[in-house]
Amino acid sequence: MISFELSEDQKQLQDIARKFAKEEMIPRAEHHDRTGEFPHEVVKKAWELGLMNTHVPAEYGGLGLSVLDGCIVTEEMAYGCTGMATAMEANALASAPLMVAGNDAQKKQFLGMLTAEPKYAAYCVTEPGAGSDVAGIATTAKKVGDDYVINGSKMWITNASVANWYFVLAYTDQSLKHKGMSGFLVPRETPGITVGKKEDNLGQRASDTRGITFEDVKVPSKYRLGNEGEGFKIAMGAFDHTRPVVAAGAVGLARRAMDEAIKYSLTRKTFGQPIASYQAVSFMIADMAKDIEAARYLVWRAGWEIDQGRRNTKFAAMAKAFAADMAMQVTTNAVQVFGGYGYSKEYPVEKLMRDAKIYQIYEGTSQIQRMIIAKDVIDAMKG
Ligand SMILES: Cc1cc2nc3c(=O)[nH]c(=O)nc-3n(C[C@H](O)[C@H](O)[C@H](O)COP(=O)(O)OP(=O)(O)OC[C@H]3O[C@@H](n4cnc5c(N)ncnc54)[C@H](O)[C@@H]3O)c2cc1C
Repeated sequence: MISFELSEDQKQLQDIARKFAKEEMIPRAEHHDRTGEFPHEVVKKAWELGLMNTHVPAEYGGLGLSVLDGCIVTEEMAYGCTGMATAMEANALASAPLMVAGNDAQKKQFLGMLTAEPKYAAYCVTEPGAGSDVAGIATTAKKVGDDYVINGSKMWITNASVANWYFVLAYTDQSLKHKGMSGFLVPRETPGITVGKKEDNLGQRASDTRGITFEDVKVPSKYRLGNEGEGFKIAMGAFDHTRPVVAAGAVGLARRAMDEAIKYSLTRKTFGQPIASYQAVSFMIADMAKDIEAARYLVWRAGWEIDQGRRNTKFAAMAKAFAADMAMQVTTNAVQVFGGYGYSKEYPVEKLMRDAKIYQIYEGTSQIQRMIIAKDVIDAMKG
């Protein structure tokens, strides 16, 4: 049976997140965008309300909600401010490898840390020389006795400076290419970790993005996730859980841009008429509405598939690529609806357009998503 009806619990969750975005995020968004200050206070309140770490199972202190539930929450939070929402979502990305491959002791310790207090984690895969081409990373983890010694540099790490622990992907055997990678949980206080300066990014400026250097960082083998050689699979498998949620963020951002555009188009008059009365403007808004709706269906499908225990890689890539491209188009057109005022920081839409761009880049660029989709559908035809 197909149903688009949310359950009572989901509606309640959506209401809480919507209210939070309106009352706590929107009033502070401009400040954090301008200053780049990390939104600790907002995150703390979201954590207290149970709007973070929703995916963590109850036995580790979380709510044990589904990926689809996470998408519903994130769409609302992103409506408020995607910089802040990304700061919160980075915990879900960092903990996804742990959800995929962690043992009970690892989950208790590292997921437990996130649910006991408003703490952060970060996912460290990208490097200065390798983003899309994950097999091109240079970080190594050398086995020495019962420990691993990690050396290398990571780049563009969300929550780098605030994280209490990191998921780190490194080569345990470079000769095996992606089958020689392993994933590690690395507590922040481990000696040898240096966090770089905050990147001065185009958008989502409330979020903290930095490089991290690991120099002779010693981690016990009990902090390795899964077996040696499973790191690539674990790091990529994490995206099946997180890409639907990231795509939901793009939907929330686009919905906000559309609402702002509609409000403005009803009040701004040219030639004696509100601009909403002109077909050229109202059709831009119609396109926004239909594309947001289409993106949301893809997001829900991608979330629902993995919640059924099925492989959702293709749907997650479709949702991420479609929602990211859609958010870029919708926010660009929202600026257009505002005319000259859209180009000014006095109005919210220029921020939304800057914030939208990253959705086409992080968690796999829009080109990489298309490669995943193409491989899936072409391979299926080959049989
Ligand atoms: C704000 C921000 C936050 C981030 N947060 C994190 C994080 O928390 N953790 C983390 O590990 N990483 C993070 N990233 C990194 C992000 O995932 C990478 O930037 C992204 O995967 C792209 O890698 P790259 O920047 O090296 O670009 P490249 O891989 O060098 O790609 C450059 C361009 O070439 C295209 N391209 C590359 N290969 C192909 C191909 N085979 N076919 C077609 N086109 C191709 C890409 O699509 C892109 O347009 C973040 C990045 C940013 C900017």
